[in-house]
Amino acid sequence: MSLRPTTRGPSRASARTGGGRVLLVGAGPGDPELLTLKAARAIGEADVILIDDLVNRAVLEHARGDVRVVAVGKRGGCASTSQTFIERLMVSEAQAGRTVVRLKGGDPFLFGRGGEELSRLRKAGIAVEVISGITSGLAAPMAAGVSVTHRDHSPGVIFVTGHEKDETNVRVDWALLARSGLTLVVYMGVANAARIQQRLIDGGLRAGTPVAAIQNATLPSQRIAVGTLATLAETLTRESIASPAILVIGEAARAASAHAAEWAASIADSAAPPVSSRQAARAG
Ligand code: SAH
Repeated sequence: MSLRPTTRGPSRASARTGGGRVLLVGAGPGDPELLTLKAARAIGEADVILIDDLVNRAVLEHARGDVRVVAVGKRGGCASTSQTFIERLMVSEAQAGRTVVRLKGGDPFLFGRGGEELSRLRKAGIAVEVISGITSGLAAPMAAGVSVTHRDHSPGVIFVTGHEKDETNVRVDWALLARSGLTLVVYMGVANAARIQQRLIDGGLRAGTPVAAIQNATLPSQRIAVGTLATLAETLTRESIASPAILVIGEAARAASAHAAEWAASIADSAAPPVSSRQAARAG
């Protein structure tokens, strides 16, 4: 099996860049077994891997022994400088004829700046391919036993960021989302939870609407907290839920309560160390 290009023009661009190319690869939500076969193969072909903070280092087992790994996490750094640095590095390495894998958590096109990187690379005439990954916005509810489009609860799902770059530049119309009747899956929402909660309630979403927060989804360190919209921020504080976490808001999230209770019971029943999220999911 070979990696087939999924974007237009890679072969032409390859000729221009001396055979070098960039693969924007989704590494999935955390569990290394949730990597796609295509992603594993791309990692194995890399001369250089630019790896994000949230990517589980275990996926590097697919890499060659002589690969150069560059950690390009933005935590604690200046986001814009760092993004420029990452893009320049990808361009220069590809122009030098190397195969560059840009490994991102989840899916590269869901809140991952993959779209920006794709256009920057294309502008530079670099051959580029995008390999989708399992996004945390789907994996986290799943790990908590929540079907985001359960037929009894919701005809659809909204993926939305809880992080707004500039407080004065309101880009998310929470009141509109409150009226949507759809399951809300919020990325990067922990720090802003109190505001999100208030905006949704102001927008008319019932205060008793179930919510679930899933931290470190699909990893052994996974934690699930459940509550209602009225107690969202309080629940996160009480349960010490920190980033990275996904918030699920809507009737569909009710299923997480039963799941979390079963999970807690299975831990209490066991003298062994806490069960992993995967074991809990199987038990449920
Ligand atoms: N491209 C990524 C999202 C990047 S934005 C994806 O598709 O999943 C970073 C946010 O993703 C985090 O703040 C958190 O909200 C979410 N996230 C990533 N990994 C997670 C995990 N294992 N568990 C819960 N949330 C996660």
